[in-house]
Amino acid sequence: MEGEEKSITFALLLSKTAITKTIMMMKRIISIVFAAVLLGLMPYTADAQGTEINSRDLRGKVVYQDDEVVFRQLDEHTWIGNGHRVYNESLYLVEGNDRALLIDAGTRIPELDKIVAKITSKPVTMMLTHAHGDHVGGVGPFPEVYLNAGDMPIVPNNMRNYKGQIKYLNDGEVIDLGGRELEVIFTPGHTAGSATFFDKAKHYGFSGDAFGSTNLLVFTNLSTEMYTAERIENYMKKNDIHFLFPGHYSGDNLETLQRVTDIKNMCREILDGERKPTISNGNNGGNDMMVDDKGVRINFSSRSGMK
Ligand SMILES: [Zn+2]
Repeated sequence: MEGEEKSITFALLLSKTAITKTIMMMKRIISIVFAAVLLGLMPYTADAQGTEINSRDLRGKVVYQDDEVVFRQLDEHTWIGNGHRVYNESLYLVEGNDRALLIDAGTRIPELDKIVAKITSKPVTMMLTHAHGDHVGGVGPFPEVYLNAGDMPIVPNNMRNYKGQIKYLNDGEVIDLGGRELEVIFTPGHTAGSATFFDKAKHYGFSGDAFGSTNLLVFTNLSTEMYTAERIENYMKKNDIHFLFPGHYSGDNLETLQRVTDIKNMCREILDGERKPTISNGNNGGNDMMVDDKGVRINFSSRSGMK
């Protein structure tokens, strides 16, 4: 009898443990499923502070699509457009309470003004990270476009049909969109007139081809690139910038502080002769030399880049 009681008690205990375990497991499964659903349906809920945006971004909600460009929502007031003509060329629509900024214009996007008007009701100002053909293709309908005057030498070739007014950005200027500010920092290296736009409150920036392409084309020279990388390294540290959206965003190449530091060091090492470049093997924009390390390839010219 006593033995029977014991075994019944043991059986009860066992089943109680089993039930508790099952409940815990179910709770865990429910929370995992819930998290997965939440992440899948709303990948941008946590990014209001700009900290949770990651490689899932290109799965974001499509808000506009035609043959030339797909716009997706990055966060409540920020969108990315991607073309398909030159390595996923990217443009960014950044909205404040009073007006919006369009950063870059793709390769060939007719009526880009009408497209962005479908996404934001705010007046849109057109600004460029630089004046390469895969970033200026949709500027036509905008009455004015802002850029770093350092790129004016390539404007006649790359924006030859533009009839509007070209205005110049200033290094360090703050663009007030109403409740949202972007700071302009000149980032020469890729081109002489490259510029990066920082949203300090959201802890991110938009760097065009200056950073984040993973295949960096230096059309100026390595000391300019090194100086820019050092300046942006310091800026990112000081202002707690978590990453940069690049000019050819493919979902996994947000630029990081670590790689900006790596680029700075790699440039210095080449210039000091500590790192030997090799002959570039294509996709180099006409540059003949390269180094490939730490997740970035830096292409430069043996004639003009080694200074
Ligand atoms: Zn470029």
